[in-house]
Amino acid sequence: MSTTDKVEKPMTAQGRPRGSYRAPVPVTSSPRLISQSATGRLNRTRLLQILYDVGPLSRAELARLAEVTKTTIGSIVQPMLDEGILVEGVPQPSSGQGGKPARPIWFSPSGRPIVAVHVGPGTVRAALVSPTGIVLTHSDGAFSSTNASHEQIVDRVADCIERVLPGSDGPHALGIGVAVSGMVDTDHGRIIEVNLAPRLSGLELGPLLSQRLSLPVHLDLHPRVQALGDRWFGSGRRVSTFASVYCGEAIGAGFVIDGAVHRGASGAGGEVGHTIVDLAGAICRCGRRGCWETIATHRWLRSQAAALGLPGAGQLTAASLSRLAEQDRPDAVELLDKYARNLAVGLVNIQQTLAPGFFILHGDIVQGGEPFRLLIEKHFRQGIAPRPGSEPQLRFASPDDDITLLGAAGLVLSQSLDLLT
Ligand SMILES: [Zn+2]
Repeated sequence: MSTTDKVEKPMTAQGRPRGSYRAPVPVTSSPRLISQSATGRLNRTRLLQILYDVGPLSRAELARLAEVTKTTIGSIVQPMLDEGILVEGVPQPSSGQGGKPARPIWFSPSGRPIVAVHVGPGTVRAALVSPTGIVLTHSDGAFSSTNASHEQIVDRVADCIERVLPGSDGPHALGIGVAVSGMVDTDHGRIIEVNLAPRLSGLELGPLLSQRLSLPVHLDLHPRVQALGDRWFGSGRRVSTFASVYCGEAIGAGFVIDGAVHRGASGAGGEVGHTIVDLAGAICRCGRRGCWETIATHRWLRSQAAALGLPGAGQLTAASLSRLAEQDRPDAVELLDKYARNLAVGLVNIQQTLAPGFFILHGDIVQGGEPFRLLIEKHFRQGIAPRPGSEPQLRFASPDDDITLLGAAGLVLSQSLDLLT
């Protein structure tokens, strides 16, 4: 599963090469017995999830929440304490029944930081993130999405990362998490295709960055990384099943199901923008006909606005269209409603298929504000088959959040846990 190359590299304390590309460990597969190492990683991931959900906890509290013994918690926690990912805090007075004062366990503020990267069509953003989920510093870069060579793109991404890496006297970064706005092969750390940036197609970004920077690299689809960010650090905290959907210049989704991010074979899942919603529809950038992206992205919105003669049609966004609609322009009001309906169509299909019940919406549409969210919700509710019980919820993410970068850090943290023995 790993594409470890033969170059000699510094080794981790556990004897693995530091600079190897590591494929994310599949969380869903056909039924089989779980190996001891996989159980260990799963238990550690779940324990981290409890900590992110609740905050600092003693061993006894962790044991109660995880429904296991304190001894089991000790065996799960110890390697992470040894590695400096977790630390024990100042002893707290015990609960009046005597016994040793409890020491709350939390992420080490001086623990090894994580490099988080988001590669979009022509853009790269890198950040250094603390294990507690704080963005310490970030840097931005750009590359030509139509002319740059693979080598030039790797140079730009690596430059961006190097600007945030701690100096030689600082702590060694734990690894690099990369979110890619395009189709990915997570087994090989390869970008398969980015419709909006053809030069990224076929780029083996994971192994190349790993060789260049001598750090483990974990690469995944942007909306899926965003879902992990939502789960650990955003509106998906304490929510076991939800969909995290990105809508703007493209559409994609990440699914958290029963507490785990669903990936699909080699990371093929989440391409909801290319589910077909109109057999007689327009040709999509992917070459197929009538994908959801053909009726609910900027490209569609701007062509509709141009046909109506709306001002600023070529740069129209959910925010500027909402402003035009607020001025009671009937054509803008109608287009905004159509945009909301077309967005709702795909969300309805997701709800009918997976029934996540809770949607966290990201991307440009969030800038449309609460009136736009209500419009989408109205069409969404009209579109789903009625069922007794609670109504599915649609929520807009915070417009300026760092959720994708935090998710990329979470990717490194969760995927690094199987290095521990
Ligand atoms: Zn398509």
